[in-house]
Amino acid sequence: MNKETQPANRFTNPPPLDAVMNDFFKTHNLPKAVMPSNPVQKVLRGQKALVTGANSGIGEGVALALAHAGADVVINYVSHPEAADALVQEIKSHGANAYAHQCDVSKEDQVQAMIRKMCDEFGTIDILVNNAGIQMDSPFDQMTLAQWQTVLNVNLTGQFLCAREAVREFKRRGVREEISCAAGKIICMSSVHDVIPWAGHVNYATSKGGIQMMMKSIAQEVAEQRIRVNAVAPGAIRTPINMQAWSTPEAYHALMKLVPYKRIGEPEDIGRAVVWLASDDSDYVHGTTIYVDGGMTLYPGFETGG
Ligand code: NAD
Repeated sequence: MNKETQPANRFTNPPPLDAVMNDFFKTHNLPKAVMPSNPVQKVLRGQKALVTGANSGIGEGVALALAHAGADVVINYVSHPEAADALVQEIKSHGANAYAHQCDVSKEDQVQAMIRKMCDEFGTIDILVNNAGIQMDSPFDQMTLAQWQTVLNVNLTGQFLCAREAVREFKRRGVREEISCAAGKIICMSSVHDVIPWAGHVNYATSKGGIQMMMKSIAQEVAEQRIRVNAVAPGAIRTPINMQAWSTPEAYHALMKLVPYKRIGEPEDIGRAVVWLASDDSDYVHGTTIYVDGGMTLYPGFETGG
């Protein structure tokens, strides 16, 4: 089995975190965080994956992890083609195949064209990672209908459209035993806010709660066809979207009140979970949500006894 070490975090020019984290560990007399450096197994060799919203943050980390595990990857993006192209080049330099495809996941015709092109270029689709997502935050009584609908259109309808097209191809093609036990795998990017209510983000939290029931209902319906459907719910992951929550000592200290494991998550943490869910190692895991959150869903307010 070929082995590779984990890809380094390729977040472009992030503000340094070490000083902020070390200050936190010292102040609280806690052990330093040691990041995993496990060898990567090529458990997805021969598989074809599509990652939506893959040119930034978590999607980028997931696309790289899938490629390091041996999959060829379609990098979906809606803006910033240069970031998508850079990721394609990086994946190719590691020996996997990749190309970038622009598509707004909330648009039916664009999603259908994206899957058609993938079947032309790569022959089929084995793994869909429904990752694209946005926030449009507002106090509830000031939230416009446009803010509500735009977030639901991308975060929920976008996942529905991509999943439906993928299931159509999985059913048409069936199981390829030499590739995987399953006819296809869908992994929906949810959030801890599928169970933790989030004031000021009603549209976002509603979309993530919806993903949970959509994922489970699809899973129930397509299980007989050997199509596996699961979700990953990240906690606080260090991406450009939430830089204000981790880039200063004050912000990091405040964030850690919500994280029992006392370190922020990295896109690679999500990438490892997605690779496992996409691989036959998790073949009997179906219709469930894996929380990758350092314990954020453990009611951290009670960690000192309440
Ligand atoms: P990000 O902003 O870095 O990435 C979001 C990606 O989605 C970008 O590539 C963006 O261009 C893409 N996108 C937006 N609208 C799109 C559309 N209409 N069509 C196609 N792509 C579109 O943020 P991120 O933190 O990497 O978030 C990725 C996913 O993880 C989202 O679903 C988000 O809700 C979820 N998530 C993130 C965190 C976190 O702490 N960062 C926590 C929980 C859940």
